[in-house]
Amino acid sequence: MKALKITVNGERRVLAGHQDAASFIFSYISTPRGETAYHVSGHLLRKDQEVADYVEWKHEDLNEDDEVTLAVTEAKAVDLPKRQRPTTHDWNPQGELELSCSFCGNIKSDVKYLVKGSNGNICDKCTALAHEIMVDEGVFDGEAKS
Ligand SMILES: [Zn+2]
Repeated sequence: MKALKITVNGERRVLAGHQDAASFIFSYISTPRGETAYHVSGHLLRKDQEVADYVEWKHEDLNEDDEVTLAVTEAKAVDLPKRQRPTTHDWNPQGELELSCSFCGNIKSDVKYLVKGSNGNICDKCTALAHEIMVDEGVFDGEAKS
């Protein structure tokens, strides 16, 4: 299978891969507050699922002048993901899985209302924003139909 090999300063850090992988994501994070890190995640699409599971392999802080290399390689054995969840859920601060909004990512306990769908959910704020966009685009006339 195809795998993503990450090294930092020549040291192997993660070999991310899965036979059911729909995608791999490597992100470099740098914020004005000073956080510098990289993150390796992906989506697993199983035969019996319509929605891919979100998986995380590694999140590591970086120091100035750290050299990160990224290679696509063929591998028989890879590292197991550290965390895995359905895309309809996210972890709360206690580390438990909770339903979450598929649009903004907020978990159920952080929103006023969450409408649950079969392949995704939407919160009150995203519903209001979507409604505003529909009105602006002329899809709705802004009044509820009776
Ligand atoms: Zn939302």
